[in-house]
Amino acid sequence: MKDCIFCKIINKEIPSCIVYESKEVIAFLDISPINKGHTLVMPKKHYETFLDLPKSELEVLFGKIQEVTKAVIKATNADGFNLLLNNKRAAGQVVDHVHFHVIPRFENDGLKHWPHGKYNEGEDEKIATKIRSFLK
Ligand code: AMP
Ligand code: ZN
Repeated sequence: MKDCIFCKIINKEIPSCIVYESKEVIAFLDISPINKGHTLVMPKKHYETFLDLPKSELEVLFGKIQEVTKAVIKATNADGFNLLLNNKRAAGQVVDHVHFHVIPRFENDGLKHWPHGKYNEGEDEKIATKIRSFLK
């Protein structure tokens, strides 16, 4: 897509540190890493969010995400990793070309997880029932 920064990287119009590339998938270093080695993995074809990805593309993409994650862990000696996928502005998506963040994590790297909330009486069953109804 014309104004998409990741499409520009894919088309080699702007530089990036590519770590893997095939016909369908590309992976390159995030320019502002959460930890060093933080890598972005995405389909080369422009889709906006996870929900826009055709099911037929998921297998290849997820397989590659797993391979890239193993490589990032080996290369950084990470103690753990986060896989992150932001969808839409409300969830922090800045670049509208679906991409998975592979973030190497280290004991005591100082990063904090999100705060947890809690359900009021009956609220959990109510939302669970609603979710179930959309999965039938
Ligand atoms: P998101 O908030 O999930 O849309 O993440 C966008 C990510 O893209 C951020 O972590 C940015 O640091 C990263 N980013 C933006 N521009 C570039 C670029 N030119 N090369 C590599 N990563 C980039
Ligand atoms: Zn794009």
